[in-house]
Amino acid sequence: MIELIDQSQQLVAFTGAGISTECGIPDFRSPGGVWSRFKPLDFQTFMSSPQARREGLSRFLQIRREVGNVSPGRGHRALAALIASGKASHIITQNIDGLHQASGVSPDRVIELHGNGTYAKCLDCGQRHELDWVEDELERNPGAPACIRCNGIVKTATISFGQPMPEDEMMRATAACLDCDLLLAIGSSLVVYPAAGLPLIAKQNGARLVILNGEATPLDDRADLVVNDDIGDVLAGFAAG
Ligand code: NAD
Ligand code: ZN
Repeated sequence: MIELIDQSQQLVAFTGAGISTECGIPDFRSPGGVWSRFKPLDFQTFMSSPQARREGLSRFLQIRREVGNVSPGRGHRALAALIASGKASHIITQNIDGLHQASGVSPDRVIELHGNGTYAKCLDCGQRHELDWVEDELERNPGAPACIRCNGIVKTATISFGQPMPEDEMMRATAACLDCDLLLAIGSSLVVYPAAGLPLIAKQNGARLVILNGEATPLDDRADLVVNDDIGDVLAGFAAG
């Protein structure tokens, strides 16, 4: 893997929940985990009524409480080093935890395909609302919080199942995949589309594909190298410089 990274002029990292498990955020697979106990609502259900929105926001806040404060792990720090050295152009992430930015990567280098779960946003005017404010509103009022600017619908700034993918992010991610000569897919089960199609776009355009994940993925047979090992352990060396 180090050789492939050395040979690369411009690499792109594509990350999933597996890079953040060592930080204390469970991925979808862990049995009995927060994601199954407080299952996120799909977009249609969330939009169906103020009660549903209240439920969706409450579940999300419950997950946030259980997960607690988190900070970047060895994988995030390694990728931050690759960005800082100019070797990596972008980090495309399915994660909503904001940990790539927290590891010091400039926000314009991080492409968040599924949004960001560290704050909320008005679906109508885009106004940002903090999660602490959402929590207070849920305690104060029986319904769902409304935007302080336009009275619109407030939702975590994440992309839920059934919600359209953000066009700008998909375009930027596709461009980054077409420009790179090495795609590192890290900690993703590579089953959630269209996000999982991005490593294939890079591969079809001539880039090399490396998959680093704890278990097999459906794209393994397309990869130039598959590493089934712990992400933090494998990437720790890069973080050290
Ligand atoms: P996933 O849960 O489907 O897959 C994560 C993969 O990482 C699994 O294959 C697992 O075996 C592997 N993994 C976990 N810890 C690892 C470790 N320490 N070393 C090596 N491999 C490890 O996650 P996904 O592919 O990202 O897709 C699920 C969706 O869930 C995403 O779209 C994302 O939006 C959302 N999600 C986000 C977070 C987060 O922001 N941290 C957490 C859970 C789910
Ligand atoms: Zn608004």
